[in-house]
Amino acid sequence: MSPATPAIRFVDSPYRVDPGDLATLLPGEPEFRSRQLRDWLYRTPVLSTDDMTNLPLEIRSALADHLWPFSVEIEQSADGGTTRKWLFRGEGGASIEAVLMGYPRRATLCVSSQAGCAMGCAFCASGQFGFERHLDAGEIVAQLAYAEASIRDIPLGSGPDHVTNVVFMGMGEPLANYAQVREALRRMIETMGHSARSITVSTVGVVPGILRLAEEPWPVNLAVSLHAADDELRSRLVPLNERYPIAAVVEAARTFFTAKGRRVSIEWALINGLNDSVDQAIELAAIARDLRAHVNVINLNPTPLSSHRPARTHAVRAFIEALRGEGANVTLRDTRGQDIDAACGQLRLRGAGVDESTSSPSPHPNTLTPTEPEEVP
Ligand code: SAH
Repeated sequence: MSPATPAIRFVDSPYRVDPGDLATLLPGEPEFRSRQLRDWLYRTPVLSTDDMTNLPLEIRSALADHLWPFSVEIEQSADGGTTRKWLFRGEGGASIEAVLMGYPRRATLCVSSQAGCAMGCAFCASGQFGFERHLDAGEIVAQLAYAEASIRDIPLGSGPDHVTNVVFMGMGEPLANYAQVREALRRMIETMGHSARSITVSTVGVVPGILRLAEEPWPVNLAVSLHAADDELRSRLVPLNERYPIAAVVEAARTFFTAKGRRVSIEWALINGLNDSVDQAIELAAIARDLRAHVNVINLNPTPLSSHRPARTHAVRAFIEALRGEGANVTLRDTRGQDIDAACGQLRLRGAGVDESTSSPSPHPNTLTPTEPEEVP
C-alpha cells in the first residue's frame, strides 16, 4: 500500500515564507509546483486562487482563504480611476495602507513599512496615531503583489499594465524596520523582477539605516524627508532630529550617493508660516546644491489632528522661485486623490472614527501624500 499523499493545508499566507522555501508548503508535490506557486505569488499575481489555472484544484482551494497576509477593508479609487487606495487589515488588526497612482507612462505604488509610526512628525497623520507594529516582509511585498493583481483585474485606464515604480512613502519609517524592509526589497528585485532603480526608500533620517542601505547590493533610490533647513525648526517638526541632526543626515545621504551613484531626493512639505519662507528656501538650496540632490516640494496635506495648514499659493510660488533662483533642482509635486482620503494615515483615522470634517477647511485641495519622487537620471 502506498502511503497517502499528505493533504495540503495552508495555515498562513505563503507570502510569509521565503520564496525559495515554498516547497515546504507543498509536501509530496513535485518540485515544479513550488515554482508555479512562486510565479503566481510574485511574477503574475492574481486576486483569487481560482485564476491559478495550472495548480491542482486541491491546492487552489486549500490556499483560497490564506493567499493574502491581510484582508481588504477599504478600496477606493479617484482621479478618474487612475488613483487607487487600499486599507488592508493585517494580523492583530494592523492597518496597512497602500496607494497606486497611474500616469500615462508609469504606475507608482506607495507601500507601508509599519502599521502606524513611532517617529511622531508634527504634521503627519501616521505619527499622530502612534505606532502599532512593524510589518513583516511578506506584508510589505504582498501590497505590491496585490496592486499588480488589481491592475491585472481592472486596468488603470491609459497607464501601464503593471506597477513600474515603488515608493516606501506609506505609513511607517522603513529604516526603523530594516530587516523586514530589506527582505521585501530583495523579493521585489530578485523574485518579482523590479529594477532597484525603480524603487525609492524614503526616510525621516535614520542615519544608521541610510548607511546600511548604502552597503546593500541594490541601487535603490533614497529620499530624505528634510522639511526644515535648520536644526531648531527641524526638531520641532521631526523629533528624530534631536538624535540625528541635519548635518548627520546630510553626511549619511552623501555616503549613500557616493556608494550608489544614485542622486538623493529631499522631501519638503510646505507648512504655512513654519517652513515656507524664502529664508528656508535659500538654506535648503545650499544643502541641495552641496549634496547634488533633487528637491521634491509638496504642499502640506492637512490632517485632522494637527493645526498645521498648507502654505498659501503665493508662498508656494515664492518658495519654488527662490529655490530655482539659488540653483536648486526642484519639482513641485502634483495633487492626487482629492476625492479620497488624501494623506497617508487618513483612511486609518477614518476607520478609527476620527471625523475629518471637524478639521477646518483648507483653501488648498488635498494633495496625495506620499509624493512621487522625480526620476533623476
Ligand atoms: N517615514 C518616511 C516615509 C513615510 S512618509 C519618511 O518620513 O520619509 C512619506 C512622505 O510624506 C514623507 O516625506 C513625509 O514627510 C510626507 N508627509 C507626511 N505627512 C504629510 C502631510 N500631511 N502632508 C504632506 N506630506 C506629508
